[in-house]
Amino acid sequence: MLKESYQLLINGKHVDASSGEFFETYNPATGEVLAKVAKATREDVDQAVAAARAAFEGGKWPRMTGAKRARILNNIAELMRKNFDELVRIEVLNSGKTVSAAKGQIGQAIEDFELYAAAAITLGGETKPVPNGFFNYTVKEPVGVCGQIIPWNYPLMMAAWKIAPALAAGCTVVLKPASLTPITALILADLCHKAGVPEGVINVVTGSGSEIGPYITEHPGIDKVAFTGETETGKDIMARAAKTVKRVTLELGGKSPNIVFDDCDIEAAVDGSLYGIFYNTGQSCEARSRLFVHEKIYDEFMSRFLEKAARLRVGDPFAEGVHVGAVISEGQVKVIDSYVRLAVEEGAEILYGGKRPEGPEFERGFWYMPTIIGNVRNDMRVAQEEIFGPVVVVMKFRDEDEVIRLANDTIYGLGSAVWTKDHAKAHRVAAAIRAGIVMVNCPISAFPGTPFGGYKQSGFGRELALETLDLYTETKSVLSYIGSRPLNLFGI
Ligand code: NAD
Repeated sequence: MLKESYQLLINGKHVDASSGEFFETYNPATGEVLAKVAKATREDVDQAVAAARAAFEGGKWPRMTGAKRARILNNIAELMRKNFDELVRIEVLNSGKTVSAAKGQIGQAIEDFELYAAAAITLGGETKPVPNGFFNYTVKEPVGVCGQIIPWNYPLMMAAWKIAPALAAGCTVVLKPASLTPITALILADLCHKAGVPEGVINVVTGSGSEIGPYITEHPGIDKVAFTGETETGKDIMARAAKTVKRVTLELGGKSPNIVFDDCDIEAAVDGSLYGIFYNTGQSCEARSRLFVHEKIYDEFMSRFLEKAARLRVGDPFAEGVHVGAVISEGQVKVIDSYVRLAVEEGAEILYGGKRPEGPEFERGFWYMPTIIGNVRNDMRVAQEEIFGPVVVVMKFRDEDEVIRLANDTIYGLGSAVWTKDHAKAHRVAAAIRAGIVMVNCPISAFPGTPFGGYKQSGFGRELALETLDLYTETKSVLSYIGSRPLNLFGI
C-alpha cells in the first residue's frame, strides 16, 4: 500500500498539485525519505472546496438516510480492519511511533467509525412544548462544508476523529493532514471511497500549513473549521474564521497535571505516570507533563519512578519490547533539547535523560531520551509551556488545596490525573480541576464515546463523543400554527 508518491484527492480523483510540486515526507526513525507528496496550492484548495460544496449542495450524501450513511461508515471500519496491519506499518514508518501505540490508535480510529455509524441512525431533532395551537419540531441538519486541519502526533486517529462525525452528520470535508505525516489520512480517504462515500464528499489537500492553512480557514466556501494543533495556531484560526463567522472547534495544547497523593497505590502511580508522559514519545496533547508528588512519599515514589524510567527501552519502533519510539523531526528534537537547557538555566535539575540517546541505532533518525526534571517551580517556563516531547517536570506538594492551586495555575486545561485510594478526595479534586479530562487512578484519557477536549486555552468543543455531532449540525426550529381559527395578531 505504501507508494513512492501521493497525489491530492479532489472530487474522488487523485490529482497532482496545480503547481506540479511535491514535498518529501520522512521516516523519523531513520531520517530517510519515505515518499513524495503533492504540495497543494490555493488553487487546489479552491478545487477541493468547490467539489465539497457541490457534493453538499447537490449530492446524495447530505440527503441520504442516516441508516444508509451508517452502513457506509461501518463499511469504512470493516475495510480499515481488513487493512489493519498495513495501516499500522505505514503509520509507524511515517510517525516513528511504536507498533503497539499505532495498533491502539488505529484500533480506536476503527471504533470511532462504528460509534458514529450507530449515532447516524438515531441523529435527529425533537418536538418541543409550545402553547396550544402551535406545533414545534427541530431538525438536525449538517453544518455544511468542513475544513478539517490535523496534527502529526496521531495522524490516522485524528483523521478519524474529524471525518467520522462529519460524515455521520451528512457534512462534506476538505481535510488537511500535517505535512510531516500525510500518508495514512490519504489512504483512509481512499478506503472511505471504496466503502461507498460518494466523490466530492471527502477531499484531501496535503501541503504546508502556513501556506494553505490560513486560506482554508478564511475560505468563504467553508462553513466550519475543525482544528487540532498548537494553541498559537488555534488563535490564528479563530481570528481568521471570525471574518466569515465560521463555526470553529479547537483542540489545542496542554500542560496536564498528574497528581500523586501519599495514600495512592505507589506502584500503580509510578507505572501510570511513566505511561502518562512517555507514551507516544511524549507527543500527546494530554501528556501528563507536570508531575506533582506529595512530599510524604516523594523520595520513595521518585526512586521507583527513576528506576523504572531507566528500564524504558527507546529504539526501533518496529522492535518487540520498545516503549518509546522516535521524535517526529529534527526540528522537534531541537525544541525539546532547548527546553531541557532552559530548565537547567532556570535552576532545575535533570534527574534522568536530558539528551539524545547514544549508540549505533541512534545515528540516523530523530531521538530524545525520556527525561525527568526535578527541582522545578510551577512558574518556570519549563512548567508552563508545552514541550511536546518525552519530558516531565516534577514538583513536591504539601496538601490538597496547594496542589489544586498549582494544577490550575496554567493557561491550559486539557488533561489531568489523580492518584489516590481515597475516592472522596479523588472526586473532590476532579471537581476542582479546570480541565476537560480527569483520569482517576488511570493513565488512559479516552475511549470512543467519552468526550475529549479542553478548558481554557486548550480549546473548545468535544470530540470522540456523541455530543460532537452537535458541532457538525445546525438545529433548525420549525414552528407552525395549527389552531382552527386564523391568527390575527394585529387585530385588524
Ligand atoms: P500545528 O499547530 O503546528 O499544526 C497542526 C496543523 O495545522 C497541521 O496540519 C499544520 O500544517 C496546520 N497549520 C499550521 N499553521 C497553520 C495556520 N496558520 N493556519 C491553519 N493551519 C495551520 O501543530 P502540530 O505541531 O502539528 O501538533 C502538535 C500540537 O497539536 C500540540 O500543541 C498538541 O498539544 C496539539 N494537539 C492537541 C490535541 C487535542 O485534542 N487537544 C490532540 C493532538 C494534538
